[in-house]
Amino acid sequence: MVESDRFPASHRTPLTRISTSREKSMASYKYGKYLLRYESDQFDKEFEPGSIPYNSGIYRCKNCGEEIAATEGVPLPAQHRHSNNLPIVWQLLVYAAPRD
Ligand SMILES: [Zn+2]
Repeated sequence: MVESDRFPASHRTPLTRISTSREKSMASYKYGKYLLRYESDQFDKEFEPGSIPYNSGIYRCKNCGEEIAATEGVPLPAQHRHSNNLPIVWQLLVYAAPRD
């Protein structure tokens, strides 16, 4: 599926999609001052496909490296471009903290 199929012209913004090399296909950021290293065991919990996360943020499939954005209370993807025969296992990679 090409990007233009996923986002019709009427829904696209003039922004350019960030492109990283395959070897560096990892969550990226520009301003580190907005991220905090935090040693919570929430980052170690594993979620099955379709399960409901209790934290919003970026989730990573630990068995293929695919990253997705997820919202608390909304099921994680049951399927994705999983590139091997290992099970899909989601883990929280970056927590998106709501403002109180
Ligand atoms: Zn995967």
